[in-house]
Amino acid sequence: MTLTDEALSANETIANDFDTGRGKPPAPRIAIVTCADPRLTDIARMMGLDDGDVDMIRNVGTVIDDDSVRSLIVSTRVLGTREIMIINHNDCGMSKFTGSELEDRLRADTGMAPIGPATFYSFTDVEQNTREQVQKARSHPWISPDVPVRGFVYDVDTGRLSEVFPEGASVHGS
Ligand SMILES: [Zn+2]
Repeated sequence: MTLTDEALSANETIANDFDTGRGKPPAPRIAIVTCADPRLTDIARMMGLDDGDVDMIRNVGTVIDDDSVRSLIVSTRVLGTREIMIINHNDCGMSKFTGSELEDRLRADTGMAPIGPATFYSFTDVEQNTREQVQKARSHPWISPDVPVRGFVYDVDTGRLSEVFPEGASVHGS
C-alpha cells in the first residue's frame, strides 16, 4: 500500500468530522510566497496569521517565476489580497547544488535532454536571492504599486523572520 493509498483511506474517516464552514469561498488578505520545504508548512501560524487570511503560494526555492507571478496577479487582482510577503529560508535545498550539476546528473542518469525546465533557480546567497525575487515581483507591471512587496528569510532553527531590504536601502521604521 502506498502512502497515497493510506492517505485516501484516512480521508474517508477524517472527513466525517469535516467543518463544512471551511467550504466557503476564500477571502484572503495577504499573499505569501514561500518554499515547498515541509519546515515552512506552518509559517502562517508562526506569524499569528489565520489560514483564511493567507493565500499561500509555494514552490521549491521560493522563486518568483512565470507560475508564481501568475498566482500573485490572480491573488491581488482577483482574490483581493493587499500585501505580498516573499519568505525564503536558510538551509534551503536549492542552495545545496547548482542547476548545472543537477542537469548533468539527470542527463547521465536518463540519457535524455529535456525541453525544460530552462533553469532550476538554485542559489548560493539566500539574502541576495530574496532581494532578486522581491525585485521581480515589484517590477511586474500587473502587480499594483499599491501592494507592498517585502522579502524575508525564515530561520528554520529558531522560527524567526528577518526582513531583507533592497540593496543600498537604509533600515527604517520600527
Ligand atoms: Zn527551501
